[in-house]
Amino acid sequence: MNGKKGILIVVSGFSGAGKGTIMERLLKDYPDTYALSISATTREPRPGETHGKEYFFVTEEEFQAMVRDNALLEYAQYVSHYYGTPKGYVLQQLEAGKDVILEIEIQGALKVKEAYQDALLLFVTPPSAAELKKRLSGRGTETQEVVESRLSRAWQEAQGVECYDYLVVNDDLEECVGNVHAIIQGEHARVARNHALIEKIRAELKGFAKGE
Ligand code: ADP
Ligand code: 5GP
Repeated sequence: MNGKKGILIVVSGFSGAGKGTIMERLLKDYPDTYALSISATTREPRPGETHGKEYFFVTEEEFQAMVRDNALLEYAQYVSHYYGTPKGYVLQQLEAGKDVILEIEIQGALKVKEAYQDALLLFVTPPSAAELKKRLSGRGTETQEVVESRLSRAWQEAQGVECYDYLVVNDDLEECVGNVHAIIQGEHARVARNHALIEKIRAELKGFAKGE
């Protein structure tokens, strides 16, 4: 640990683009580097999903109480359900130096960028719309009707891609995970994220200058 705060990372992309798959791999490959925020949602768990792992599954009343208590970093409605990011865990992990990933949709992403200007926004896309449809249907977790509504929502979301910092194409999974890791780690080297170190080196150098 070098005392540096982590980077707040927002990952968005069409439903079925592979965000969950990419995040799972990142956390497995770099468990000490990344922390994944677990959202609260009012939607029903899919088969195999458990409370506290993929999501905190809550009632609409419980969700509204979190909103009232200012316990969410952001929240949004997506295809008739609410989704939100619990604030406490994210802030605590950033403070501990972890890069914290929020896998959220675009309305939430924009709210995060407004509140945290140094957040890094990544947008994940498959190489084509046909591949998106194939992955979304192939996942087999939604009815045909839900698949259609998510594809229709994807078209709307595609209009917002320019709000993001980086586009990540998820064609070959290995390559994609490597690219995401490289983008995030590259961000750490930005001058704007290293003021404290720069000031420290300047102060040290000033000592040399006096001695001349
Ligand atoms: P999202 O979280 O964006 O909704 P998922 O991670 O659930 O998407 O991925 C959707 C489906 O596509 C899953 O069945 C997953 O196994 C598959 N998938 C993810 N990445 C790739 C890839 N690079 N190539 C082929 N299939 C993929
Ligand atoms: P799903 O129902 O497929 O798990 O998620 C639907 C959408 O909600 C995805 O685009 C996902 O990224 C987004 N989402 C998940 N959690 C949150 C959250 O906490 N806030 C916002 N704004 N969107 C979220």
